[in-house]
Amino acid sequence: PILDLSGQVAVVTGASSGIGQAVAIGLAEAGAKVVVNYRGEEEGAEATAEAVRRAGSEALILRADVSDEAEVEELFRRTRERFGTLHILVANAGLQRDAPSHEMSLDDWRKVIDVNLTGQFLCCRAAIREFLRRGPQPEISKATGKIVCMSSVHERIMWAGHVNYAASKGGVMLMMQSLAQEYAEKKIRINSIAPGAIRTPINRKAWETPEALADLLRLIPYGRIGEVEDIANAAVWLASDHSDYVTGASLFVDGGMALYPEFRGGG
Ligand code: NAD
Repeated sequence: PILDLSGQVAVVTGASSGIGQAVAIGLAEAGAKVVVNYRGEEEGAEATAEAVRRAGSEALILRADVSDEAEVEELFRRTRERFGTLHILVANAGLQRDAPSHEMSLDDWRKVIDVNLTGQFLCCRAAIREFLRRGPQPEISKATGKIVCMSSVHERIMWAGHVNYAASKGGVMLMMQSLAQEYAEKKIRINSIAPGAIRTPINRKAWETPEALADLLRLIPYGRIGEVEDIANAAVWLASDHSDYVTGASLFVDGGMALYPEFRGGG
């Protein structure tokens, strides 16, 4: 393949479902060995690992809650124990707990910040420590390590009724940029993908009826909902040497959702 990740080891968090599952499979198709992290859905994780093996690569399933420091440390320790080191992290695990802001519980605020923002920080920190410990491996990859953070168009587009989620993704944006600035000289590249509306369980309500889908499509100039492979393809590119000069970037993969679609007509 043009985008060759053979000899590389990747951790994908939240890989039991949706985008994380497709990213894990995409990385495996490019030749990477994949650690399939999940928290609750063991069956989904098994299915991902099975697909990774069908793609001709190796999979290791590891349960860990990304918002728990000790569990994250154990996730990366066991990754190293099995595969020796790590080259790629896709910090993907995330969730929503939606409510009108005046009714949102502190619990729902904290849960989303803990998983979507603190969880990404804990995984990035553990990955960076391993990249620094191992040092350059130029025969494997130009960069010493690569991180892809799963953000959202809501790192830019404010979102009523989802204040915890929007705040978490806004936080991911500046966390990613600050880490990219801090570790570029160590040849660690850190970028984000900002997906638009991708067909997964997280947003089922937005696409499962024809009426909901029609409403959604008004927000998407490109005229279709995104599929998980759209995000997997972007993640493989960001993890590969083909994006070697790219760091600190948010790659919007959104069919134009962030382009103020209501202004399409000019006027
Ligand atoms: P999903 O619900 O299908 O997948 C989420 C995954 O994260 C699951 O595997 C879940 O088990 C895992 N997870 C949740 N909490 C966890 C925790 N504490 N520890 C470990 N894993 C945990 O949803 P998805 O759409 O695939 O979402 C993946 C990422 O993409 C999320 O960060 C989400 O915010 C982001 N995203 C999705 C869309 C979309 O339209 N689907 C758009 C923008 C951003």
